[in-house]
Amino acid sequence: MAQQIHLQPGDYLFRQGDEGGSAFIVESGRLRIAAQRRGQEVTLNELGAGEMLGELALLDTGPRTASAVAVTACTLTVVTSSHIEERINRAEPVLRLLLKQAMRHLRREIQDASLPNESTPPMIERIRLETELGNAIEGGELELWYQPIVNLERRCIAGFEALVRWRSPTRGLVPPGDFIPLAEECGLVVPLGEWVLKEACRSLADLGPLADTHYVCVNVSGRQLEQPGFARLVSDTLSRTGVPPSRLHLEATEGVLISSAQARAGLHQCKDIGVMLLLDDFGTGYSSLAYLNQLPFDAIKIDRGFAAKMTEEGDGRQLVVAMLGLARMLGRGVIMEGIETAAQRDALRALGGEVCQGYFFCRPLPLRQLREVLASGGLQADWG
Ligand code: C2E
Ligand code: MG
Ligand code: MG
Repeated sequence: MAQQIHLQPGDYLFRQGDEGGSAFIVESGRLRIAAQRRGQEVTLNELGAGEMLGELALLDTGPRTASAVAVTACTLTVVTSSHIEERINRAEPVLRLLLKQAMRHLRREIQDASLPNESTPPMIERIRLETELGNAIEGGELELWYQPIVNLERRCIAGFEALVRWRSPTRGLVPPGDFIPLAEECGLVVPLGEWVLKEACRSLADLGPLADTHYVCVNVSGRQLEQPGFARLVSDTLSRTGVPPSRLHLEATEGVLISSAQARAGLHQCKDIGVMLLLDDFGTGYSSLAYLNQLPFDAIKIDRGFAAKMTEEGDGRQLVVAMLGLARMLGRGVIMEGIETAAQRDALRALGGEVCQGYFFCRPLPLRQLREVLASGGLQADWG
């Protein structure tokens, strides 16, 4: 049962500075809202049936910014904060923030004095980043850089991984770690990933004879794989650019595949088209044998965190041995990420690993530089 309050003319419902906690709906009668301004009471508003007052208290725990006094006999229904709070907390985060921020501005306006800034800047920054990123995708601010993937035995570039960069007019060149997680959260990774896929295929086609035996690896997020039309988008992109399916390698991490049946279905559809599938950052998540066997991956990419461990005695090295053995047993390929030193290159070779990428061989390059490398006959690398 909603609680009701009855007031006589001149009764205060609450006074400026009182603790908040509930709002009120006027059922009948009139109330005057007044606040102290430089020592004088100023009337701000008069409210009647059907209107709400004290609602700021539902959104934060600040004190009442004004007093409410009955002008005539009034009946009011009490609305407690707990119920509303629960609803707000269940709301989508951006909506929640907007609501709180709007209320904060309102409160500030009413008080005519600025409140100390609370813990919002990171969230405000997030919204700003999200808006800018949305514009960046449409406005052509994204770039694809390419990191060569090398074959140690054949001493040549086998393919390249397409890695997105954001050249923001205000932020400079932003690395993907600073915006991909946000893009994943807010769904922008879907249009972003579409751009990456198309751009990577277009670039491979543009390289023509310089890269006619190479493949391009494109990172895809779970959100993309979950889109019902994703496999269709992939096959359309391939036919439009003339890139054979076997030369497109899609990289996905296992996290989303474990939690989303839709993403797994998307992965299988991509497999049906004939593109190659790589399990990215292997060794960092569950890395379960059962999953590896159920998912249609052609190869695993061992996370770069393991590259350094290969040259140390201990568990890390044994884990790499196990991962290589596991992949071999299941008939899957292996790419080792993050090779930074000659010692790591040698360790990988000694363990039977053939394909890798890392700063030791080449950093990610803009397309123009990749073209130069290919045109000059390949990497001037220390193959050992
Ligand atoms: P990832 O797919 O594991 O990509 C490899 C990352 O390792 C790249 O960082 C690459 O520059 C870096 N790397 C390569 N060699 C070395 C090395 O020797 N040492 C070290 N320390 N790092 C090395 P980057 O470009 O910053 O990308 C980070 C992550 O962002 C990627 O990890 C991938 O998960 C994500 N990402 C990048 N581009 C895209 C994209 O187009 N779509 C999606 N969904 N994710 C992307
Ligand atoms: Mg990757
Ligand atoms: Mg990786």
